[in-house]
Amino acid sequence: MYSIAIHGGAGTIRKNNINPEEEGLYYEGLRIAIEAGVQVLRSGKNALDAVEAAVMALEDNPLFNAGCGSVFNSDGIHEMEASLMWGKNLNAGAVCALRNVKNPVQLARLVMEKSNHLFLNGKGAEDFARENDLVFEEDSYFFTTKRYDQLLETKKTGHIQLDHAAGKYFGTVGAVALDSAGNLAAATSTGGLTNKSYGRIGDTPLIGAGTYANNNTCAVSCTGDGEFFIRGVAAYDISCLLEYRNMSLQDACNLVLLDKMKKLGGEGGAIAVDKTGNVAMVFNSEGMYRGFCREGAEPVLAIFK
Ligand code: ASP
Repeated sequence: MYSIAIHGGAGTIRKNNINPEEEGLYYEGLRIAIEAGVQVLRSGKNALDAVEAAVMALEDNPLFNAGCGSVFNSDGIHEMEASLMWGKNLNAGAVCALRNVKNPVQLARLVMEKSNHLFLNGKGAEDFARENDLVFEEDSYFFTTKRYDQLLETKKTGHIQLDHAAGKYFGTVGAVALDSAGNLAAATSTGGLTNKSYGRIGDTPLIGAGTYANNNTCAVSCTGDGEFFIRGVAAYDISCLLEYRNMSLQDACNLVLLDKMKKLGGEGGAIAVDKTGNVAMVFNSEGMYRGFCREGAEPVLAIFK
């Protein structure tokens, strides 16, 4: 039985600060992404293909903070990052400080499958993408007025993250899946934080922090305050609770997100699927763009608590 879950970021997402038209567009974006993943699983391809397809659909949607909708850093440019992990053999690939690559998650997969390394950054990653004929886009492809306005606003306050009176918005995207052969995979992709320093690396490309998958336990993709998710080694922590404490997926996610990360001060959430296809989608913020689908059932999408 296959199972897939996706997220499009967590944060202060309330019914009263998102208009109905926008809400509809977010649901549509989530629906397209989950369907992209489900189609792959239904066709008999594996969980890695499914999480890659779902994340690519979100990277191609300017509403989300990844790929074409990536936020601007303090220099007014985009530095993207992504990672993915294959639970069957604990193989993984990651990229960061990436410019102009249309789909960073694709590059993370290429690094895993075709390089001798696990993690490439900046020019090395881009050159590797070119050698492998990945699609590049001009800066204008990554320009969205909404993100640029957020940068200007954020610069005024001197903060790193966009701190509205209402709170924080993330927007990183991720997917986790179990395929019918029992393999688990996870992928996460982001533009990071608005007004982040150039060279800053968050949790998203770090295996164990933002992304983790192990066929013996679960697959996890996180979103939120990257620095805290790194310190909490959040994704691996969830897997460890299953592996060493025999916890259920839901209990493990609750413990890490609602207790440990909260006490540490890290706002955000995680999606996870375990080896039997259970799905958990837990966040300590007001909302998280999210959805899941299990074989034989309709997709379930949600934004608010
Ligand atoms: N975790 C990401 C970062 O810190 C942000 C996000 O989840 O949107 O870069």
